[in-house]
Amino acid sequence: MRQKHGQNFLIDNNIAINIIKAANLDSKDNVLEIGPGNGILTKLIHPKVNNLTAIEIDGTLFQQLRHYFSFHNITNVELINKDFLKYDIDDIERKFISNLPYNVGTAIIQRILPLQNWTTAVFMLQKEVIARLAAKHGSKDYGYISIFTSYYADAEILFDVSPKCFNPPPKVVSSVIKLKNKKSEYPDDVFFDFVKHAFSMRRKTILNSLSSFCNIPKNDASKIIETCGLNVLLRPDKLSVSAFLSLTKEIKKYRICRAEI
Ligand code: SAH
Repeated sequence: MRQKHGQNFLIDNNIAINIIKAANLDSKDNVLEIGPGNGILTKLIHPKVNNLTAIEIDGTLFQQLRHYFSFHNITNVELINKDFLKYDIDDIERKFISNLPYNVGTAIIQRILPLQNWTTAVFMLQKEVIARLAAKHGSKDYGYISIFTSYYADAEILFDVSPKCFNPPPKVVSSVIKLKNKKSEYPDDVFFDFVKHAFSMRRKTILNSLSSFCNIPKNDASKIIETCGLNVLLRPDKLSVSAFLSLTKEIKKYRICRAEI
């Protein structure tokens, strides 16, 4: 059994067809696929699109695919033998499609979402990870990665996929998610740093985490929180993305005031 590189190959063609359908492909599209593996998705994507770039880390799988596409004279597929996390993505507008390698799935998503040049992404990952990506405030799955995802994209969970649809079968159920790029500007470091800090102390109130994040007295922290119309006793999992954004804005104002004193 090969578990290196998160390799669980999809063997159910109907699931593959439904993943492709979700991307609404047309002949003008340029697509980037991460981890084509033995090509179950790749072979369905390329006839529908202008151009497909597929990036595969595994040299043996890469060679097999290369032979397949050259043998069949398929010219709109560019195969690249590389770690996607080290690949320089150009700025051609693209859709992303992938049955992601589960061991590096969130790292790959964090790399893709802030890019400006993608429109739609359809990804398969462990069900629990997909739930965290799409979670809203108030849910137990809500955390840093939910806020990160929702800042950059509109997310829709499409369907679950049983372990039986893979070889070898993974230990967990999988889900497919569709993301649409909101083309948000990079929000500046304070926002994500503060969100990360708040969720690193999930059980603490926002009053505690804000005062430790800014290293300021609770009194000042509570003024900042109240300016945003929020209750100081809330835990981070009850704060919406826009609540975190307005807190960040007030933190920055406060810092500027203090720097001027
Ligand atoms: N798309 C195929 C394979 C999915 S398994 C299918 O649906 O059956 C995940 C694939 O990603 C494997 O082929 C694995 O070798 C590849 N992979 C793992 N890590 C990678 C990385 N960092 N960059 C590119 N490909 C990677």
